Amino acid sequence: MNAVIFGAPGSGKGTYASRLQAKLGFDVIAMGDIFREIMKEDSPFGRKIKGYVEKGLLVPDDVVVEVLKKRLSEVPEGRGFLLDGFPRTVEQAKTLEKIAKIDVVILLLVPDWIIVERLSTRRICKNCGAVYNVRFLKPKVEGVCDKCGGVLYQRSDDTAEVIKRRIEVYEAQTRPILRLFKEAGVPFAEAGCDALDTPPEKVVDVILKELKQLNLA
Ligand code: ADP
Ligand code: ZN
Repeated sequence: MNAVIFGAPGSGKGTYASRLQAKLGFDVIAMGDIFREIMKEDSPFGRKIKGYVEKGLLVPDDVVVEVLKKRLSEVPEGRGFLLDGFPRTVEQAKTLEKIAKIDVVILLLVPDWIIVERLSTRRICKNCGAVYNVRFLKPKVEGVCDKCGGVLYQRSDDTAEVIKRRIEVYEAQTRPILRLFKEAGVPFAEAGCDALDTPPEKVVDVILKELKQLNLA
């Protein structure tokens, strides 16, 4: 199965993607994670990417598409993939149509107030990228990753001002591409979340149930 997980920043794409991966065994391709890896290198390319990410702006389409194509070519034959954070523009969606068949769009519906609240209290593992929240999804030991013992940090784009910009960019450039998937007849699996403390497993169960109904899980 090839899928796209779609939702606003902070809707939980990465959190659910890693849990779905554990159950369904596809490759997760998370564009934001790939860019954060590239940013760690102190190279001209890393600094270029950083210039966009830290302002909450989108990395230019030609760069994103190159990075995606390279990563897609590493997916083993016969294994499916889940795209997290791609496509984010109409241009990217049109490119994707040409290079891969998408079987389902997993759409996360989360109210704005939850998104802002979550992003400003989010923490990420420096080592493995696992996502935590200091209020709603705490690690067992403060500041330490449950999975690998890595140090937890706050993303440089999880500040009030940049969060606001990322949500605006999502509304203007990303949300509109849902229509393209609908027009192309791609089925949707929708899952909502209406409280700050909804456990991720509950949302994952809803997604799995819908995928089963579509004969995809
Ligand atoms: P979010 O929590 O906002 O969904 P991500 O980790 O997916 O965050 O992405 C972080 C940043 O990486 C984005 O704000 C953007 O600058 C850049 N980025 C990620 N995916 C893309 C993409 N498909 N196109 C352009 N920029 C992207
Ligand atoms: Zn970790």
